[in-house]
Amino acid sequence: MAAKQKAIIIGAGVAGLACAIRLAVQGFEVTIFEKNNYAGGKIGLLEKDGYCFDTGPSLFVQPQNIRELFDMAGETIIPYFHYKKLDLTCKYFYEDGTIINAYSNKEKFAKELKEKTGGRPHYLFTYLDEAEKIYNKIGSIFLNQSLHKKEKFDIQKILKAFSVTKPAYLFSTLHKQNKRSFSDEHVVQLFDRFATYNGSNPYKAPGMLKLISHVEMNEGVYYPEGGMISIARALYGLAIKKGVSFHFNHTVQKIIVADKKATGIVVNNETFFADVAVSNIDVYFTYLQLLNDEQSANTILKQERSSSALVFYWGIKKDFPGLELHNIFFSKNYKAEFNSIFEDKKIYDDPTIYINITSKMEPEHAPSGKENWFVMINVASNEQASDEATINLCRKNILAKLNRILKTDIEPLIETEAVLHPKLIEAQTASYAGALYGTSSNSRKAAFMRHPNFSNKIQRLYFAGGSVHPGGGIPLCLKSAKIASELIMEDSKKWKHE
Ligand SMILES: Cc1cc2nc3c(=O)[nH]c(=O)nc-3n(C[C@H](O)[C@H](O)[C@H](O)COP(=O)(O)OP(=O)(O)OC[C@H]3O[C@@H](n4cnc5c(N)ncnc54)[C@H](O)[C@@H]3O)c2cc1C
Repeated sequence: MAAKQKAIIIGAGVAGLACAIRLAVQGFEVTIFEKNNYAGGKIGLLEKDGYCFDTGPSLFVQPQNIRELFDMAGETIIPYFHYKKLDLTCKYFYEDGTIINAYSNKEKFAKELKEKTGGRPHYLFTYLDEAEKIYNKIGSIFLNQSLHKKEKFDIQKILKAFSVTKPAYLFSTLHKQNKRSFSDEHVVQLFDRFATYNGSNPYKAPGMLKLISHVEMNEGVYYPEGGMISIARALYGLAIKKGVSFHFNHTVQKIIVADKKATGIVVNNETFFADVAVSNIDVYFTYLQLLNDEQSANTILKQERSSSALVFYWGIKKDFPGLELHNIFFSKNYKAEFNSIFEDKKIYDDPTIYINITSKMEPEHAPSGKENWFVMINVASNEQASDEATINLCRKNILAKLNRILKTDIEPLIETEAVLHPKLIEAQTASYAGALYGTSSNSRKAAFMRHPNFSNKIQRLYFAGGSVHPGGGIPLCLKSAKIASELIMEDSKKWKHE
């Protein structure tokens, strides 16, 4: 029997785990080197004073990407992972007292919009039908394959896909599209928010991003039992089952390149050789630190970063029956907020606040009668929101806004607290400037500018994760793992003859 080909994966983020599973199933001997002591990267868990918090992502969509991994591995998902569809995807609060419940049932949501804003159901249905069309016709081409391999990039197919959609999706912004579709400002703001799902600005990002609303509103939002950490645990469990080896607390120092070919890595001053290497870490740091290629690293920085976040984990010693799993408290002036984040790169004094409370789904995530609040605002991906004075100012602004809208005094209710800021995000997961989603989608060229899932200069080096094609967020990271592993499978057929 021929010896197995060896694959090394750098980083155990969600894309690193998925790539490892895929390669192991295809017969590779896979080893993951991870600098932290856990699998999951940005998907983390914080347990503090009887509360438990998901530290990173909180919104879960497209469970089919995870299911596909189990199906492909020939394993049943049930012992590893459970999830359920939400009836209420998000509760939106506005400063003028308007509250909109976004129901997953379209008729119910349309009725809610009519009651709260007077909007006719027809406008919502037309919008979501269009969003579905864009997702199916264009999204499927852009998200499921490499855009950088000539043989995969079928220009005819792409032109045909664009011909069935409106040029406005490319040439006008998401905000303009939404203004055209809805007359009520609350509804426009609600749909503008989808640009933030990949860390972008709705006043700059192309109308194409309308496809994100399809994923949430047509396909649905899900809750993973046990919280988001259960996604990482499920993939880690599946990887172990498929024979993947893990080395935690191992920070990779270097990718070894010989004859323009990746041949292994150096970690803790020890060398490990392999037939192929996959970097799951931020592509900027891959070039800068692991390949010592400052020029390529600087080229990556020419693309605008996605936004970052400032997150407060608050143990709240009270029950708020008026809140749901996902809650948004909108800023009064959304445009000014995005200008602050992306143009001025400064914090904004009336930020849109997102609160995620998993104890609504699983009461054991907080002591009895209490709630675990994950309170997040979007901030620029730089160091600004990471110093103590700025964090305190943001905290004050957040509390003032929540007190105003919820008509209460939150501060005395906070009995435990922790903070995540851009500098910490960079330190914990090596994401440049704490960007949550790699690069932003604030231009129509963004999809083409993202780094490919392979290296043009170094053979046998591949990339999977939020900073490369097709982008950040768990669903796209899982797709990047699929694209990278498929490229490896194809290319590896040639290696046997080299
Ligand atoms: C606060 C926050 C909120 C978010 N909200 C959502 C959400 O609601 N829904 C959603 O889908 N997405 C959300 N995201 C984005 C999502 O978490 C990421 O896009 C995704 O998890 C990134 O996965 P990844 O595979 O790119 O790897 P990462 O999670 O970035 O992991 C990379 C791994 O590489 C390791 N590493 C780095 N350098 C080295 C080295 N030299 N050697 C060894 N290992 C190394 C790191 O320790 C890390 O474990 C959020 C992110 C954050 C931080």
